[in-house]
Amino acid sequence: MLTIIDGYNTKPEWFLGKGSFGSVYKVEKDGNFYAMKVFQTEYLMAEYKNRLDREIKAIQKITHPNVVKFHSFGTFVDNEFEYFYIVMDLIEGKALTEYIGTIDEERCIEIIESVLDTIDSVHKEGIIHRDLKPANIMINQEGVPVILDFGLAKLIDYSSITQTGERVGTYFYMSPEQITDSKHIDNLSDYFAVGVIFYQLLTGVLPYDAANLPALIDQIKNQYPKNPSELNRDISNQVENVILKLLEKEQYKRFQSVSEIKNALQEKPIEKTKKLDLSIVNFIRLLHTEKGVFEVALKDSLIDRVIFPANFFKFYHPTVDILKKSGIPFTTDPATNRLVYTSFSKTRGVMELPYSSGSEVTPIQKKDFHSISQVQEYVKKVLDFQNENGVTEFAAPFFFAKNSDDEWFNINLKLLKESLVYRDENFPDKPVWAGICMNIENWHNEEEKTNILNSYVKTNPDGFFVYGDPIGNQSNLTQLYHYTDLLRKLQINSSAPVVACRVNGLGLVLLSLGIAGISSGIGSLDSFRESILSDTQEGYSADPRYYIPALMSMVTLKKRVTTKLIDIAQSSVGEELKCDCAYCAGIEQGTISLQNMKLHFMKKRKEEVEEIVALNPEDRLAYIESKVEKAIIYKRNLSREGVEVGDFSHLDTWYSLIQQFKKKNSKID
Ligand SMILES: [Zn+2]
Repeated sequence: MLTIIDGYNTKPEWFLGKGSFGSVYKVEKDGNFYAMKVFQTEYLMAEYKNRLDREIKAIQKITHPNVVKFHSFGTFVDNEFEYFYIVMDLIEGKALTEYIGTIDEERCIEIIESVLDTIDSVHKEGIIHRDLKPANIMINQEGVPVILDFGLAKLIDYSSITQTGERVGTYFYMSPEQITDSKHIDNLSDYFAVGVIFYQLLTGVLPYDAANLPALIDQIKNQYPKNPSELNRDISNQVENVILKLLEKEQYKRFQSVSEIKNALQEKPIEKTKKLDLSIVNFIRLLHTEKGVFEVALKDSLIDRVIFPANFFKFYHPTVDILKKSGIPFTTDPATNRLVYTSFSKTRGVMELPYSSGSEVTPIQKKDFHSISQVQEYVKKVLDFQNENGVTEFAAPFFFAKNSDDEWFNINLKLLKESLVYRDENFPDKPVWAGICMNIENWHNEEEKTNILNSYVKTNPDGFFVYGDPIGNQSNLTQLYHYTDLLRKLQINSSAPVVACRVNGLGLVLLSLGIAGISSGIGSLDSFRESILSDTQEGYSADPRYYIPALMSMVTLKKRVTTKLIDIAQSSVGEELKCDCAYCAGIEQGTISLQNMKLHFMKKRKEEVEEIVALNPEDRLAYIESKVEKAIIYKRNLSREGVEVGDFSHLDTWYSLIQQFKKKNSKID
């Protein structure tokens, strides 16, 4: 390196750094210091070589205080190589690269907004930066971002860079359209680069990163990065959405102006007040086949809340219409869970849902939620559909997630956040339920539990429906304990009601332990363990089941045979187990109908729930403990007398569960 170039003095120790296509030195002339960028002229675009004067003079017209000014330029020969140099302001400060992953959201927004203001005013002069990246942004001593190399990238022929690492590096911040056709890009391409910088500053990593150029180009053009909040849980949904919108692949989906971006960043989030309280108790999961049961139950006031599977709306308007007129709060299971499985494509109404894939051969897939616009469109379809069907409470779309590492887990969180945003903007008075459907196998792991709680409490919905898989009479103590523990923590920390779904008799134990609500079904479906009134353990036999409150369980009867009920009635505990409600009249003659069995169940369940709710919270555990204890004794007596009612070992598990929580509560005291 020469020590004097056209009157500018430099020294080896004034070397400031090396970029992808040149080196930068501190230089001095007439007692003033500058920065000089030097690179071989072979890097210049051939078409500009003969008209550099004109091109650089155009850039020199930029007079923005936060854009580094170009003072002079020229060429020189050193060791037989021809070099191009350009002299610019020397900025005292640190490059933005040093701030990556170290600043909070607030400071980050400040920097990004300042960068946006600067590029906006230069864009208005018709000049695009083309190479915005943290290395080209200096934070000066006043803390203000100053942009380097504005417009210079246009003169560089990137294809002449031969070193793989450096070549890849020049593409990290490039928009898909710049990769495709760098000559015809506009301000939106610079916005994309700002999106990459924004992403990197807050998460510490690049949204697109690959070891080789073809892989990187494929990512930028065809793949979607992880949501920033997956990498940094402190990122607000508002900022995340701005970043994702800046990174949209199609230009029309991006922000179209700096003022749009700044508005989106400055919008005040709506003050959240919970629209559901903790007094929610008994949800009846209503199925389409139950119109007759439903009508009687409604007349007899057996129902206080309903959840209706969305795929039946279309076919069962009469039932839904009765429901709407009843004034009973009702919501829907959006049935999104089913849309990812081919096995549900034949389930009535599933493929007709306006938010299904609409194709029997291609179910909904993760890739359908990769971009922010896909997520927002989906949420709009789901909630609009619910609104059209008159629900009083929305349920955000959700899918089964194996655990918190599953990509579906993050998709669910994003769908929920966007559901809340969409509600706030369009239906501010309607509550939104979050659905959580997960495998509970890992919930004994504190890290997994914390991850789920951190993620969901922060989203702040009005209530939670939790579907734990596998929760049922076969669940063991460890599973039940951690499932219950998570539900309780979720409710306490979110101050939103948690409803344990499809938990059958266990629901009463959960209510006693403080869970706000449960859901019980009055029909049968073969999946998701919903069959509480017909026994499908043995394939499709669908034997009816009769609910015995004192046993806290269903008893399976053989088809059309109620002799077991007569045996129970004639046992030594028959008096205590028998029901004299109107629906059960005729039970001893063996003439109870399936519809009446269902109505009997609903009546008893409602009474049981009301009994628990009437107690002081601190008395509930003792109440349920004695109820379970008694049930175990009844079962023992029946067995001794040869009346076989099935495997009731779950009662022992529930009893142990209650003991665990008694111990836990006494520790807290
Ligand atoms: Zn009865």
